[in-house]
This record gives sequence, C-alpha cells and structure tokens, in this order.
Amino acid sequence: MAASQTPTPAQELRGAGLRVTAARVALLEIVRAGDHPGVEAIASGVRDRIGHISLQAVYDALHALTGAGLLRRLEPAGGQPRFERRVGDNHHHIVCRSCGAVADVDCAVGEAPCLTPSDEHGFSIDEAEVIYWGLCPDCSTARSSWAP
Ligand SMILES: [Zn+2]
Ligand SMILES: [Zn+2]
Repeated sequence: MAASQTPTPAQELRGAGLRVTAARVALLEIVRAGDHPGVEAIASGVRDRIGHISLQAVYDALHALTGAGLLRRLEPAGGQPRFERRVGDNHHHIVCRSCGAVADVDCAVGEAPCLTPSDEHGFSIDEAEVIYWGLCPDCSTARSSWAP
C-alpha cells in the first residue's frame, strides 16, 4: 500500500461531495490515526482539536462520512460500533473478547467476497464480513499468569 499521494481530509470530503467542516476534518484525522476507535474516543479527540461538540453532532458526522464511503463502521456483537478509514477492500477483523482490541485481517482467500456460503439463497453476494473472536496477546498473557 504505497501512500504516494494520500489525499487530505478536505480533499476527500470534497471528492465525496460533502461540505468541509472542521469537525469532519478532525474526525477523519482521528479515525485515521486511531485503531478502530469507538464513538466516545472519537468525540473526545474531536473536542481536543476543535472544542465543544455534542455527541449527537459526532454521530451525525460519522453517519454522513460512513454513508459517503469515507469510513467503515463495524459492529462487533455486544460491543460499541467502531470506525476505520480502510474501506472497500473486504478485509476482516479479529476482536479480543476481553479488552475489545480490534485488528485488521486481510481477506481469507484474496478477493471479495472471499468466503462462499454453502447456500447463497439466490443472493448475489459482493462482500463477506468476518469477525474472528479470541484473546489479544496482552490478555492471553494476563490470563495465563493468573493461572494457579
Ligand atoms: Zn485484549
Ligand atoms: Zn479494519
């Protein structure tokens, strides 16, 4: 993934036909810098940069950016929604059951959709989203050191 010409957040917003606002620019930068941050982490990052913004405004901005394809939203079962900048490549995620850490996992087979169901039910499938669950290295180390 050569980042030869990474567009700025403002360019990305314009390219997606969205109005450029300080909150949206800050939000894109925070999600890019973070590791699948949740809404609370994003909101506090935006506040650090531009001052007060309501949680509802952050939700609205996330909704607009996700709808425009600039962000991808993932929702681990029972967890908070997370956001990321890596969109449109059908990659999967691995989630820690203990601390909620999320890591990217490339497509299992190599091209989208990378998993073929045993029964497609007549659907034309273009994406497969897989969440692998387990314990991250930190949590499995902690767990084994608790063992008697
Ligand atoms: Zn963990
Ligand atoms: Zn990801």
